[in-house]
Formats: sequence, C-alpha cells, structure tokens
Amino acid sequence: MESATSYVPVPASGCGGDSQGAFESSVSPDCLIWHFDHKGKFSVKSAYRVALALSTDLDPPSSSVSGMAQLWKWVWNAKLPKKIKLCTWRGIHDILPTCCALAKRRGSLPHLGCGVCGGAESTLHILRNYPFAQAVWCLLSGLLSFDRHADLPLPDWLLVFWCELPSDARALSMVVMWALWSNQNDVTWRSTRRRPHDLVQFVLQYMEEFRCANNQPTGCHDSLGASCWSCPPSGTIKINFVGAFHTGSTGGGVGVVIRDENGQFLASLAKRVLYANSAEHVECLAAREAVGFWRKMGGQSVIFEGDSLNTIQDVLSSGVNLSPLG
Ligand SMILES: [Zn+2]
Repeated sequence: MESATSYVPVPASGCGGDSQGAFESSVSPDCLIWHFDHKGKFSVKSAYRVALALSTDLDPPSSSVSGMAQLWKWVWNAKLPKKIKLCTWRGIHDILPTCCALAKRRGSLPHLGCGVCGGAESTLHILRNYPFAQAVWCLLSGLLSFDRHADLPLPDWLLVFWCELPSDARALSMVVMWALWSNQNDVTWRSTRRRPHDLVQFVLQYMEEFRCANNQPTGCHDSLGASCWSCPPSGTIKINFVGAFHTGSTGGGVGVVIRDENGQFLASLAKRVLYANSAEHVECLAAREAVGFWRKMGGQSVIFEGDSLNTIQDVLSSGVNLSPLG
C-alpha cells in the first residue's frame, strides 16, 4: 500500500490529452495490489526481482556482482558497432593501451605524458579527466546530464550516471568515450589535433548516420535485430507513438508521428510530461496522445504502433488492470 502515497496521478490535461480519451478510468472496489508488477499481481518472479534490487542497493557498486552485471548488460545490449562496445569494455577493465597501463604491464616507467596536455596518460585521464575530455562532456551536458567532475573509478562513475539515462543517451556516451580514445591515438600517432567542438560534431554525426543506416523503411530487420518501420496497407495511415521517461526529474516527453500508406509524413506532435512515476506511465500517456490525435484527424482506418509491449498488451486486454495506471 506504500505505493499509493508515492504515486502522483496525472490529470488528462497534464500532457494536453483529450479527457474523453481511450483511458477513461472506471470506479472499482478497493483491493490489495502488488505494485512491483505492472499488472498489480503478486508472483514469485517479481518478488525475486525486488529482492535482487534491494541487495544491489545495499552493496557498493564496484564490488557488487549484480551492479557489474547491469553494467555489462548496458554495454553489450547497446545498439552500437562492436568496436565501440569493445572500447567501453576495455575502458571499464582498464586495459586500453595507455602509457600508464603499458608502463604498469612492463614494470618500467617510460614516457607517461599525454600527447595533448602532458599529464599522466591513464584511462580515466583520456576518457573523463583531462581538459579536452572535460570540454567535450561539457558541450554535451544538454544531452548527457551527469557529474563530469566526479572522483570515481570508471565502472562506478558509469553505474551512477547511466542508471538515470535512457538507452540512447548511454549509447551516445559510449561513442563519446570511443571518440576520445580514437582522438588520443590520432594525436599520438598521426599528430592530428581536433577541437572539442569538432569531436562533438563528429560524435553526433556518427550517431545520426548509424541510426539512419539501421532504420531503412523496408520492413526488414537490421543486423542488430531491431524491427524497422514499414508502410501500412493501402487506404490506412500508421501512427507511431513513443514515451521517454527521465528518472531523475520524474518527468519526460511523448511523441507521435503519422504517416500515410506511402510512408509520407502527415503530422506529428511532441509534448513534455511534467509528472510521471515510471516509463510505462509515460508510454500510456503517449498511447493516449496518439488516440486523441487520430480522433482529431477524423478517425480514419489506422494502425497504431509503439515499442512498449506491456502498454500495448494492457490496452488490448479486456480484463481488469490492477496496476496504478489501470
Ligand atoms: Zn592529457
């Protein structure tokens, strides 16, 4: 019952939705619900997950096996080329061939100077601490909100700030670290220098090109297994909706895009959500926005498409939903 006090209900007007939309609530008698399950039902599986999360919270991140397991999950599940995931993996293990690592491995102390600033060239120096890296992270602070000055080892630092970032921002930060490492090699071996602005521009362009290359509108599956967009049947429009939840600010945003049978863009909307308590909450608001938008357009033949399986199953279900969102 504790969840009832922490749940912040969002009125239909909270994200500008139609109050007579598809998510009208109905009055049902009070009953006990298990709020750790998205359907409000107790199961041993969900209880195990809660126990695991509690044990993770009690352990310091770097010494926690489950904390590191989460870190590896984020790294290997990222939709990025293998070379970038491998670079992150080597950085976390502190086995990138930096001057400090090579000196440690050979048991001698040769030239330790960083080719950019002259400081001791360690993994953390290149990926986070030296002025060039700090300038790059600073330029990206609007997309990646975290404490770039944190005095933590790399695995702990990533655990702390990745847990509050959505997967695409985590992927972006991995590309930044790979670009910083590549830049260091270019400085050392090719004597080429970039400005922080140039590196940021390169990273953003790289992400954009990678996304485009892996989202061809042919209804295919890309090499990473992600489903691509496909045109709806003749005479039908397709409405895609998505919600993004930001854990740190208890808010997020919703987006809706409408395309016709040829894949031509017809309309879109994007709105900010000020109060939400979970990613599924925001996904539900996105689905409601999509339905409201479709009604305003005349309610023609339509296919709705979203990426939250739980939300779609809940909307299609005819049974009683015991979750806070039900
Ligand atoms: Zn340096």
